[in-house]
Amino acid sequence: MIKSPDCKKCRRVGAKLFLKGEKCDSQKCPMIKKPYSPGEKPKRRKSRVSQYGIELVEKQKLRYWYYIKEKQFVRYIKSVTEKKSGTEGAGDQLLRALEGRLDNFVYRAGFASSRLEAKQLVNHRFFHVNGRPVDVPSYQIKVGDVVSVRDSKKKTKNFVDFKTKMKNFKPPSWISLDKNKIEAKSTGEVVIEDIAPPVEISSIFEFYSR
Ligand code: SF4
Repeated sequence: MIKSPDCKKCRRVGAKLFLKGEKCDSQKCPMIKKPYSPGEKPKRRKSRVSQYGIELVEKQKLRYWYYIKEKQFVRYIKSVTEKKSGTEGAGDQLLRALEGRLDNFVYRAGFASSRLEAKQLVNHRFFHVNGRPVDVPSYQIKVGDVVSVRDSKKKTKNFVDFKTKMKNFKPPSWISLDKNKIEAKSTGEVVIEDIAPPVEISSIFEFYSR
């Protein structure tokens, strides 16, 4: 399980990971006043961190960013390093696989304010994929798939007045969102340059090659 409270994860890795929805864009974000590790005092000079420590932090950042457990994360790493398909680098393949998860798609489409909330909604069977209920957060969305909110869930507080609440929201270019129907279609491949998690991906592969 991922045990530590979310804001502590950001403080521990020294980056905003946007795990708490609206709070992340507000002045309540602890990274504004306390951008240092929990339990530490603010330091004027940064202490030296080993190469291992740097790689560990990068790995944790990406894992927290997509809100997945270590075991699952290792499976993604293994699958891209063992597969080595096509001309795309391992880093881009890793991001593509993580972005393709149903819980991430739900978040990107605006159906949830954070990936954690998206995962919870998927677990609670809020969504259909191509008309069939899917409750597996790691389910891989393919180009052409349609994710819709189940009719029985459209009256819940998450989706009542969805169109009004989301009037200024724009999904990324590879997702087409129908705010009336509360459904989203994957219309193309993820644009890796538009994802930009605050992570040095090569360090992650170095970490797991030890
Ligand atoms: Fe907490 Fe979000 Fe700020 Fe991270 S970015 S510290 S999750 S409020």
